[in-house]
Amino acid sequence: MESLNPFTRANLLVIKIGSALLFDSVSGSLRSEWLNALCDDINKFHKQGIKIVLVSSGAIALGRGRLGLLGEKLSLPKKQACAATGQVLLTQAYETQLAQHDIQTAQILLTLQDTENRRRWLNARATLSALLDLGVIPIINENDTVATDEIRYGDNDRLAARTAQMIGADTLILLSDIDGLYTGDPRHEADARHLKSIEDLTPDIIAMGGKANFESGVGSGGMATKLAAAQISTQAGCYMCIMDGQKNSPLSRLSGGERCTWFKASQNPKDARRQWISGHLDAKGSLVIDEGAVTALCNGKSLLAAGVVSVTGAFAKGDTVKILDSENQEIAQGIASYSAEETQKIIGTKSSQITEILGYDYGAALIHRDNLVMSQ
Ligand code: GLU
Repeated sequence: MESLNPFTRANLLVIKIGSALLFDSVSGSLRSEWLNALCDDINKFHKQGIKIVLVSSGAIALGRGRLGLLGEKLSLPKKQACAATGQVLLTQAYETQLAQHDIQTAQILLTLQDTENRRRWLNARATLSALLDLGVIPIINENDTVATDEIRYGDNDRLAARTAQMIGADTLILLSDIDGLYTGDPRHEADARHLKSIEDLTPDIIAMGGKANFESGVGSGGMATKLAAAQISTQAGCYMCIMDGQKNSPLSRLSGGERCTWFKASQNPKDARRQWISGHLDAKGSLVIDEGAVTALCNGKSLLAAGVVSVTGAFAKGDTVKILDSENQEIAQGIASYSAEETQKIIGTKSSQITEILGYDYGAALIHRDNLVMSQ
């Protein structure tokens, strides 16, 4: 990667703050001194004209502390109760600190649907952009109080990446308790090497996330969710960095060249709509297609019913689906023009037969090429 520190070029910054940094697992309370120093740092860069969005974890951990539920295995409703209690403490802590610097804050609690449903995405984007234009620092978290397992992000790494993509951020910083990506788990593998910069998210790099889940255990993410975040953000033209934020003032440290892993932004990001489709995290089904259709898709054509071999999942018209080759490798993602049930009836047939079979049609393509994004 070019020698210039990408942080020095940041204009629109998303900072994800992991639970382990904010929360003192011994006292069960907020690490106030660390947070105060972070807010001093945020003020410094905000005053330089950098727009900043915070994605902060910590609600569940803080709520546990406040409700005397540390170390207990919690049922979902109790976890949600902790999130509801902790979220107030979390926002209040940022608000109080940043107000001392005359910075206004705003709380935004998002669910998976807010980023994975196109209309809600556009709505959230408009709100965030209005806040940024007003000089406000939005503080985002997942709305853990209503999100249940099937419909939740569960980790703020991907939420932060989707947020960065949503607002067109140029830099995403994941403040963690590890100083970047290693070739293995540094706690157990003596020869695990730290990687300073990643130009390309090759399958080998992605595989490193699988075995390297070496965060402290307070939060929900791990290296795999961080690499998924890297995929989303870099494809959107946004640099991403994983750094150890445990010591005070991580932003100043990063600007001074602190050790971390930088992921290089794609120099040719897709347009905003295609980014949204390819980064979509809630595909409702999949279509396996034949070789002829794979070639057609690679040549920029739409997906026609004739090339589809099988359908799985229960998707509606307008839902996102994965497109797989005959070896079940994902090759593209797209927005379905027909529901799973309708698709089932028309696969393998000619487009001209759709009206005859269904009694109506929504166009010749199962997925129009404007709604389709190849995976690589
Ligand atoms: N949203 C969760 C919380 O605020 C944390 C998710 C994560 O650790 O990434 O407690």
